[in-house]
Amino acid sequence: MLTLDSIRQAPKALLHDHLDGGLRAATIVDLAGEHGYTGLPTRDVHELAVWMHRGADRKSLELYLETFQHTVGVLQERDAIVRVAAECAEDLAADGVVYAEVRYAPELSVERGLSLDEVVEANLEGFRIGEERARAAGRPIVMKMLVTAMRQAARSLEIAELAVRHRDAGVVGFDIAGPEEGYRPTRHLEAFDHVRHENFHITIHAGEAFGLPSIWEALQYCGAERLGHGVRIVDDVRVREDGSVELGRLATFVRDRRVPLEMCPTSNVHTGAARSIEEHPIDLLRRLRFRVTVNTDNRLMSDTTLSGEFAALDRAFGIGLGEMEWLTINAMKSAFAAFDERLRIINEVVKPGYARLRQAATRVVMVAG
Ligand SMILES: [Zn+2]
Repeated sequence: MLTLDSIRQAPKALLHDHLDGGLRAATIVDLAGEHGYTGLPTRDVHELAVWMHRGADRKSLELYLETFQHTVGVLQERDAIVRVAAECAEDLAADGVVYAEVRYAPELSVERGLSLDEVVEANLEGFRIGEERARAAGRPIVMKMLVTAMRQAARSLEIAELAVRHRDAGVVGFDIAGPEEGYRPTRHLEAFDHVRHENFHITIHAGEAFGLPSIWEALQYCGAERLGHGVRIVDDVRVREDGSVELGRLATFVRDRRVPLEMCPTSNVHTGAARSIEEHPIDLLRRLRFRVTVNTDNRLMSDTTLSGEFAALDRAFGIGLGEMEWLTINAMKSAFAAFDERLRIINEVVKPGYARLRQAATRVVMVAG
């Protein structure tokens, strides 16, 4: 079994993480005090973390999303967004993440007068500050932003234009998030058309709480290059009693086209999209060699880290270092950063990092032998 220490040291890539789902509990309490946000259920840091976690683990995506009113509540000022984005980069880097795309819906931060552009600029500035601090601490990380539109709102075209406008400053793609049921991605076709016509990137939360139609629409109507979660693709995979497997047309398409699945195991257990890690479809899908990637979704609400996700997968399925490297390279290949930057990280950071860890493991075995 992998040790948590070697998992933390291993270079990792993260494609699905929400800025408003990853705040430090202590920072929420600080910011609430600074900016006069009075809605918190408690001002005690530990109690707040526990409250967030309990609030998230209620087996329903809608209930899970309720906890976000407080993180979004303290993200209404420029300085607050900069601070949270910088800490996000530092926390990920400290966990051994070398490349991250973190998403945020700017339309959630305009209650106190910030413009959408100001929200994106503050987020990107925070990432730059966090990258610098991480480099100084000897844990370099590359931070990119995905701009999210809320699927239940009606601003997606405006948000898509916003994403494209900041593409040269660190935004690498467009996403839609929020409750899946009743809010089909096809409500936002104009936004997706705009992004595609600008030769820009799309990922869509689909197949988390809702089944195959949501995945099919995301891919075939909206032009999603990646699927946020995508767990329900397993509904199109039939495992017979003798262990042989049959893929339906949609699952075949997803696997043949190497459509990346941004899987978030712990979060899926909390929202009820999977019963447990042991029963999570990620095991079947990785063994069938779908383009699986491992992600955190909401580190605060799900009380997790990317290392924690890999540790859980190793405990449940014994994935080991080799599979961890495969999952990481899958993520780097699927990233929306420019090709040369992705290649540099794979060849100069990821592969040498795993080679070093393997060598160290061999040394331990030789000494022990
Ligand atoms: Zn998500």
